[in-house]
Amino acid sequence: MRKVVLVPGDGIGPEITDSAVRVVEASGAKIQWEKVEAGAKVMQEIGRPIPPRFFEWAIETGVVLKGPVTTPIGSGFKSVNVTIRQRLNLFANVRLVKSIPGVKALHSNVDIVIVRENTEGLYSGVERESSYGAVESVKITSAEASKRIAKFAFEYALANNRKEVVAVHKANILKKGDGLFLRCAGEIASGYPGIKFRDMLVDNAAFQLVTNPSQFDVIVTQNLYGDILSELCGGLIGGLALMPGANFGENIGMFEAAHGSAPDLAGKGIANPTGIILSAAWMLDYIGMKSEANKIRNAIYKVLGEGKVLTPDMGGNATTEQFTEAVIAALG
Ligand code: NAD
Repeated sequence: MRKVVLVPGDGIGPEITDSAVRVVEASGAKIQWEKVEAGAKVMQEIGRPIPPRFFEWAIETGVVLKGPVTTPIGSGFKSVNVTIRQRLNLFANVRLVKSIPGVKALHSNVDIVIVRENTEGLYSGVERESSYGAVESVKITSAEASKRIAKFAFEYALANNRKEVVAVHKANILKKGDGLFLRCAGEIASGYPGIKFRDMLVDNAAFQLVTNPSQFDVIVTQNLYGDILSELCGGLIGGLALMPGANFGENIGMFEAAHGSAPDLAGKGIANPTGIILSAAWMLDYIGMKSEANKIRNAIYKVLGEGKVLTPDMGGNATTEQFTEAVIAALG
């Protein structure tokens, strides 16, 4: 039995993580789930949104499967997601944007990996109010974190037979901070002569992604740009709910879908669990259960490809439960 920390999250989190757990168990993977709640309810109960045992267990097991957690807007406690990523030093957020045969989408030939720096940038949490009624939100860019994320992107490219890394930035305006990020990426690139390297301004990248996404292979970028561009990419392949994601640090991986807690769908039983199921399959790869992971991916692709049992976001009328049952049946 392999121990994995499970955070159901809130909103649609409990419904979709339940689906992923059932699919993982039906695949034959032997997992012992260590469940920890996090979010607003926990905040009310213990005065902090993440119980300390989460961090202890995450470090001990090195593997987390996490549902989305709602973040209060404009005030309230600091994002649970940002806190976890910073406390556990999960410096690389990776999202896989891959067309799925049979799924209705804007583009059908997309296969992009977005590698996003996860610990600093505009998500540093440093904001101050100036006396003249303005707010300064501090964007932190360090050489250390920039080189670390660029190295991660190139190592990922090498290990996964990818041909090119594109560094996305806004160094024409943010000459110092984004300029530093770009220089660091270039420096790391010179150590990987077998992998092509180019850079692109973030505004152009948004345009290029929508008009010609097949030109992209691996994208490496800073925190906010990566967050926005990866959601844009969800729109290319047929939905936000189709993208798996993971956060990596030294000897630790936390797997979660790219989307949020979708409060508009919470409790309705119609959320699409594809992203979290594919994230769970990736988690199984990570812990060496590759045949179970492949079984799950094949089952998901079969159900989506057949198009008979689809949740409403994909144009169908199936519930999360019916979709989950279809995936379990397709495991064979
Ligand atoms: P969202 O991703 O929750 O929802 C955006 C849109 O996509 C909504 O229309 C929603 O219904 C739809 N959607 C999302 N997931 C879906 C799914 N699985 N099936 C079907 N439709 C789905 O983004 P938001 O509304 O901007 O954010 C809601 C909350 O989630 C916020 O509090 C935000 O901070 C939080 N959030 C958490 C995470 C995380 O935990 N990793 C990530 C992003 C946002």
